[in-house]
Amino acid sequence: MIPRADDESKEILVKHEEEPTPAPVVAAPKPVTPPTKPVRNGGDHVGGGSSLFVCASCDEPISGTMITAMGKRWHSDHFVCSVCDLNLEHVQFFHKDGQPYCHFDYHDKFSPKCGHCNTPIENECLTALGKSWHPGHFFCRDCGDPFEEDGYMVHDGFPYCEKDYLRLFAPKCTGCQDPIQGDFISALKGKWHRDCFGCSVCHIGFDATSYYVENGKPYCKAHYKNGSRATATPTA
Ligand SMILES: [Zn+2]
Ligand SMILES: [Zn+2]
Ligand SMILES: [Zn+2]
Ligand SMILES: [Zn+2]
Ligand SMILES: [Zn+2]
Ligand SMILES: [Zn+2]
Repeated sequence: MIPRADDESKEILVKHEEEPTPAPVVAAPKPVTPPTKPVRNGGDHVGGGSSLFVCASCDEPISGTMITAMGKRWHSDHFVCSVCDLNLEHVQFFHKDGQPYCHFDYHDKFSPKCGHCNTPIENECLTALGKSWHPGHFFCRDCGDPFEEDGYMVHDGFPYCEKDYLRLFAPKCTGCQDPIQGDFISALKGKWHRDCFGCSVCHIGFDATSYYVENGKPYCKAHYKNGSRATATPTA
């Protein structure tokens, strides 16, 4: 299992027009997904006069169009991204620690960066090998297949699918040449699947750890001719 992380704060932008009485505070529901367009309350008429509210950005009283966002009130042209000054009145915005951000700068500043492409991870995020990854950007170093929810193996800090890991790095059986996973037998300067270590003639397994050797090959007692007796070492 690869843990997934998905946290970000989104909020609806609520816009008011100045009324004879102070504009009501509209609570912005959150979280909101998918991105929601700002809601405009009232008509297009922009009134004049003074207001009880001061702008969270410039501390000046707000007259005319007022933005309510993040629990504060803003001049409509002062509700901008903290990094690039993009006006956020009509776009989806994000906020952190009381500062509003545009989509790009929020993710650039606060989202984890992908270990493969080094760009911000906005939505689904895989965490593995101490890094974060876009789904699809965490893949086998050899065959390039993404792991999704599959397990993976690690060699020299790089991820591999099980098939390629075994093919590339697992010890090979002296008998069948296939990779060995789990228990094996060390014998005759090689490693063997338990089932592959048997008499070179009849392929019968050795019920004890004793067998006979001739020209570097194992034999049962019946097929042994002139070699010497040896002992196999099962290895966990
Ligand atoms: Zn202002
Ligand atoms: Zn920005
Ligand atoms: Zn990526
Ligand atoms: Zn692979
Ligand atoms: Zn084998
Ligand atoms: Zn035999």
